[in-house]
Amino acid sequence: MRLHDKVALITGAGSGIGREAALLWAGEGAAIMVADVNDAAGQAVVEEITGAGGRAAYVRADVSKAADAEGMVRAAEEQFGKLNVLFNNAGIMHSDDDNAISTEESVWDLTMNINLKGVFLGCKYGIPALRRAGGGSIINVASFVALLGAATPQIAYTASKGGVLAMTRELAVIHARENIRVNALCPGPLRTELLMKFLNTEEKKQRRLVHIPIGRFGEAREIASAALFLASDESSYVTGATFTVDGGITAAYVTPE
Ligand code: NAD
Repeated sequence: MRLHDKVALITGAGSGIGREAALLWAGEGAAIMVADVNDAAGQAVVEEITGAGGRAAYVRADVSKAADAEGMVRAAEEQFGKLNVLFNNAGIMHSDDDNAISTEESVWDLTMNINLKGVFLGCKYGIPALRRAGGGSIINVASFVALLGAATPQIAYTASKGGVLAMTRELAVIHARENIRVNALCPGPLRTELLMKFLNTEEKKQRRLVHIPIGRFGEAREIASAALFLASDESSYVTGATFTVDGGITAAYVTPE
């Protein structure tokens, strides 16, 4: 019960990392406000949690829209009385996101609006709620691509995640004396449907796997576990951190045979 009596709002909780975090954290005692744009997926997660005796509710929220971001925070407070943990997890990887020359402006704008502005809006409305609760923990999902360049480019995605990382550091410093901790999570490549659809040949998979010391893609559950530590009071002295969970990618020059 590492999140006993906590209320957590998770964006993009209908799938992948967000879904795994919702299920894991609910089992650790948190009430979960599930926010997503995919109503069926979000509601299914709520049913799974409540079916197992946990507390959860769904709110439709597009994180790139200010009114929706405000609404998801309000929903968490109305439903569960307060907000302790904000997991700004929702993000997209557009299939037409490529290098600077070929990437359309519309792809850049959409990616920035969801991945970067979405985190800003979550904080804009979430921080006042955390203050009302006497403090709390914010976890913003960046990526290992905020730390390393890749010759398999997704220029808008990479730039958006770099923005999340820089913004997180500053938020952490600004709010450090308000008992509000803000950390960035940098997952490595995961064996999620999203990425595996993108890496749809063995050759494409191997092009990445050779750079991962642990020798495999990560699991969404492994990221949810790392985020659980940041959400809980166990990480009470951790703020402004770049919390890398990447199978060793960012530590490696030459990987094992
Ligand atoms: P996913 O596609 O499995 O889940 C993302 C969820 O976000 C979906 O349920 C989707 O409906 C929702 N969503 C999309 N746009 C939204 C919006 N505008 N408002 C609210 N919800 C929205 O993705 P995932 O792999 O679990 O990724 C979660 C986060 O982790 C993202 O920020 C992603 O960039 C990051 N990340 C993923 C990987 C990876 O390899 N999968 C690696 C590093 C970082």
